[in-house]
Amino acid sequence: MKILVINAGSSSLKYQLMDMEDETVIAKGLCERIGIEGSNLQHRPTGKEQVRIEKPMANHTQAIEIVLAALTDPVHGVISSMDEISAVGHRVLHGGEKFAGSFVITPAVMDVIRENIPLGPLHNPANIMGIEACQQVMPNTPMVAVFDTAFHQSMPPKAFMYAIPKDYYTRLHVRKYGFHGTSHRYVAQRTAEFLGQDAKGLRIITCHLGNGCSMAAIVDGKCMDTSMGLTPLEGMVMGTRSGDLDPAVVGFICEQEHMDVQDCMTMLNKKSGLLGISGFSSDMRDILAAVDEGNADAKLALDMFVYRIRKYIGSYAAAMGGVDAVVFTAGIGENNPRIRELCVEGLGFLGIAIDHEKNAQRGGERDISAPGSTVRTLVIPTDEELVIARDTRDLVCG
Ligand code: ADP
Repeated sequence: MKILVINAGSSSLKYQLMDMEDETVIAKGLCERIGIEGSNLQHRPTGKEQVRIEKPMANHTQAIEIVLAALTDPVHGVISSMDEISAVGHRVLHGGEKFAGSFVITPAVMDVIRENIPLGPLHNPANIMGIEACQQVMPNTPMVAVFDTAFHQSMPPKAFMYAIPKDYYTRLHVRKYGFHGTSHRYVAQRTAEFLGQDAKGLRIITCHLGNGCSMAAIVDGKCMDTSMGLTPLEGMVMGTRSGDLDPAVVGFICEQEHMDVQDCMTMLNKKSGLLGISGFSSDMRDILAAVDEGNADAKLALDMFVYRIRKYIGSYAAAMGGVDAVVFTAGIGENNPRIRELCVEGLGFLGIAIDHEKNAQRGGERDISAPGSTVRTLVIPTDEELVIARDTRDLVCG
């Protein structure tokens, strides 16, 4: 059984075709500049040469048509006809409070994705375009929506409510939703498997550290708290996002600078975080290189990044009444031993300590805990596409 996974952005579309017999990737790729001059497709068929196809893509429907043509191409293709694709799984950002899991896409499901546009104004419309494009080109293929927010729906009200007049929750659904849910769910499940333990009884802190960063406190396999909020702006210091701050900062800056709120939100989302403090880059590799050259602003950005993570590890350990495993994932979490080391530095009092040699080694899933530490510290590479493909298979094939 072959499943196509789609992650549609406003002008981009990522895809991955998976063979679910052995859960391998048959081909993957990316369409860029959809609706903009210079549209192109980078197609990477497994075991064959990568190709770049420059072709106008006025909209997502044309992009999908070009992707399917590449997948079935006699030279670069990996399947003989699109009928070989049993189902399509779509990544959807915001499922609001209605979706605590993944769902086969029906008109009613589409209505809810549309209802949630105010909560995900950039992503949900793009996700809808991706779904509608696939429905147009593959009208008989079942489709599934997998939501970034769904895993966090198990949070209790004391964790997801903001202490503002309750009416804003009742009328406008203002609350913490959390994101990167597919990643946290996958990593927590793999952690239990890796440790050979039942998810029940495990208290896990997952640290998804990529361009966007979020953490989650997971008990018995269920999320009980997470760092991102109504939007992905809350929580950690990220590449370009501020993460937590006193909301009065927004009012103060808007008033002092005669800035409107929208511009201020753009500043907090796009010009803050590592980029805002360092003044030159949102990429952790650049920050670390500059720290080594003695750049004080880069050092401050790094210190703020790891300090915030340490604070959250402590607060989640307190919230869960202890912690059994701390897990690092995503671009920074999987690849950077130095950041991992700094994030857990001084947490020996919680039983968290890492082995420097194990931490320095490269590889897939691994335990980097120091001998004798009571908390297991792991590195688990995330695989959101695999979760989407599995959910799609399970829902379509029962
Ligand atoms: P996204 O959040 O967009 O899915 P990833 O999880 O792939 O992104 O993470 C991408 C980020 O990971 C890059 O912006 C880069 O800062 C960071 N990164 C990747 N490799 C390393 C590394 N070896 N050291 C530090 N940071 C890294």
